[in-house]
Amino acid sequence: MRAPINKIIPFSNVDGPGNRMSIFFQSCPFQCLYCHNPETIHFCNSCGKCVKTCPVNALSIEDGKVIWNKELCVECDTCIKACPNLASPKIMWMSVDEVIEQIKKARLFIKGITVSGGECMNHPEFLTELFKEVHKLGLTTFMDSNGFHDMEKYPELMAVTDKVMLDVKAFDSDFHQKLTGQINETVLKNLNYLLKHDQCYEVRTVLLNNFEQNENTVINVSKIIQDKCFYKLIKYRPFGVREEGLQVCGHSIISDDELNRMDALAKENGAIYTKTV
Ligand code: SF4
Ligand code: SF4
Repeated sequence: MRAPINKIIPFSNVDGPGNRMSIFFQSCPFQCLYCHNPETIHFCNSCGKCVKTCPVNALSIEDGKVIWNKELCVECDTCIKACPNLASPKIMWMSVDEVIEQIKKARLFIKGITVSGGECMNHPEFLTELFKEVHKLGLTTFMDSNGFHDMEKYPELMAVTDKVMLDVKAFDSDFHQKLTGQINETVLKNLNYLLKHDQCYEVRTVLLNNFEQNENTVINVSKIIQDKCFYKLIKYRPFGVREEGLQVCGHSIISDDELNRMDALAKENGAIYTKTV
């Protein structure tokens, strides 16, 4: 069994508690307008458009497939910017053993791993096997998920998942669909499921320059989560957002005063453990 890995960051202190290894999986069922790593959304279709843009000839086409030479690559990401398909030619199809080898190298310096994406739950069987092996190393297992997949339907995976960091991008389903391409019914079902099982570490909401939607999401999410997990409120930032996203989400960032007002609103509605970034 192999899974498509977009990248591995050996040490991260922004992906859950303590120092953690972050593993980004390729492919996502959402297509968020403000996505900052849209190259994780689709699989490469080997159209070849990025190959000639590589300044060090690390890309080639063999038998109709794009091949990435990791040793030559200087990680300039020119190929990603050139891709019209929200994909990357730099995907590593790794086995559980190969990922575990990487984790073992960092083992003494990390508290656990966090799997992200794309949407990590696009690869549930792989995650289940990976998490079992990670626990054998004495490390914790966290998922960073957009909540698209119904977690209740993956009992084996949830049994080996220590905590989840869940995005609730909007409480209003129509607005959620406008932002991501999908309604939020399963996201909210997952939120309740995780709280019930004490598996929610943190809920995250990106605050756009849309006061009505921000208020609606912050009030309703806070009422649900109360003191059961962290609630992270994140300022939308337009840097790196693709053109179609900018048309809907705009170029402006909410002020610190507005961020603080949202933080106070979350607390007024019961979310005690808030963070703002
Ligand atoms: S990131 Fe690597 S493969 Fe892509 S253009 Fe730069 S050097 Fe070439
Ligand atoms: S990464 Fe994008 S541009 Fe490059 S071959 Fe794949 S689909 Fe085409």
